[in-house]
Amino acid sequence: MSGKNNYSMLKQIPAVDEILQRTEIKELPSQIPKVLILEAVREIVAEIRQDILTNRIKLSPENNPRQYLLDIITTIAAERALEKNRPNLRRVINATGVVLHTNLGRAVLSERAREAIEQAASGYSNLELDLKTGKRGSRYAPVEDLLTKLTGAESALVVNNNAAAVLLALSTIAREKEVIVSRGQLVEIGGSFRIPEVMAQSGAKLVEVGATNKTHPGDYQKAVTSETALLLHVHTSNYRIVGFTRETSVAELVSIGEEFQLPVMSDLGSGSLIDHSTFGLPEEPTVQETVKAGCDVVTFSGDKLLGGPQAGIIVGKTKYLEKMKKNPLTRAVRIDKFTVAALEATLREYLEPDKAIKNIPTLQMLYSKKPEQEQRALELCRKLTEKAGLRARFEIVEIVSAVGGGALPTAELPYLAIEVVPFAISVASLAQKLRCSDPAVIGRLQEDRLILDLRTILTGEEEVLVDILCRLLKQGGISE
Ligand SMILES: *Cc1c(COP(=O)(O)O)cnc(C)c1O
Repeated sequence: MSGKNNYSMLKQIPAVDEILQRTEIKELPSQIPKVLILEAVREIVAEIRQDILTNRIKLSPENNPRQYLLDIITTIAAERALEKNRPNLRRVINATGVVLHTNLGRAVLSERAREAIEQAASGYSNLELDLKTGKRGSRYAPVEDLLTKLTGAESALVVNNNAAAVLLALSTIAREKEVIVSRGQLVEIGGSFRIPEVMAQSGAKLVEVGATNKTHPGDYQKAVTSETALLLHVHTSNYRIVGFTRETSVAELVSIGEEFQLPVMSDLGSGSLIDHSTFGLPEEPTVQETVKAGCDVVTFSGDKLLGGPQAGIIVGKTKYLEKMKKNPLTRAVRIDKFTVAALEATLREYLEPDKAIKNIPTLQMLYSKKPEQEQRALELCRKLTEKAGLRARFEIVEIVSAVGGGALPTAELPYLAIEVVPFAISVASLAQKLRCSDPAVIGRLQEDRLILDLRTILTGEEEVLVDILCRLLKQGGISE
């Protein structure tokens, strides 16, 4: 067909109004806003137009091209309208095995934390009202008390995230002054958090000491000048330097701090309240230990190993915390009521560590052991084979996954997964379809196999996963 002919075929495209009158469009669920339906129809019309011009759709004058176009545009536009009405932020079944997946929203909250958010969202609360006195209260009060109790610190403050916590602390304590940091701790965390850059942003001057693998107490001592305001220790939360190494410990920094009358701050990154090594994971310094070592300021995330909402938690000496609370930056990085609600609920779980382990999904998943999951793996594999055994091979395999979220970088978590090898469609295509389903399913691609790690598939998600996977495998078998 010549280009000119294609051009004349454009006349066969039905008018937008005519498409809108079709039953398939009129019978779309009434909650879909009209504006989205119109947008969907217009988009499809434009796409079809392009397809005709580029010969991707070939029309012949004998086969009632007008009716044909009306039918396909209607069908595709109805699907597109439904798609447009689906929330952009949607549920994901995490089959990657990475417990703290930053791209997938890090920590899954405990039931108690979820209820607290629901409460805070559905009515008014005493967010900034002291109910006893009737006077204005602090939004930090509900968590401050818990944080000091749990960590042993004098005082606490919570901001938007740990990046903000570090920025606020540096800007309060060391603006236009010098901060000494080891070259082995100039950390970069995914999503553009870098110690040198945060330091620059805070107005503090970075003074690097030591070498990448070794920094001795003497390196810090030699670097102290009249301009020094702070000794900073950064936990290398997402990497480890191994081999011929020497790190100056927080305790050593504290004694140097005493010698020179300087405060010491530790950016713990993940900041755990539980000793993970008792559960077979690599040792991480706990917040309590770091406070006990005499650190003046300790910062950590709410949504990493703690398993709570996104937040930056600062604990330490009242002298520094009071200054931070008065810094205008605190207002710019303050937390909202949902964070207060979820964090309070999460912290309450830690009052009884045994319960925290049971009730906080992050800890549950991290501590979950392979044998406990065997039954679950067998069940899932059986269901998949039963429903779609002709379309793919399903097998239980052993794999190793990371903790993620810039935490416990050397931890290797052995676990059980289901390996999927589809027969009629490519693994890449299956993975893409899974990503676009609702809920979306994210697995791990390994060559020609799709790996579904059970560690991060939540209880109750198996059924949905089986349904989605089997439906897509069946579709795939037909269309390819
Ligand atoms: C993760 C991390 C941060 C950033 O914390 P967010 O809560 O993601 O802002 C800062 N410092 C260290 C050492 C970290 O591990």
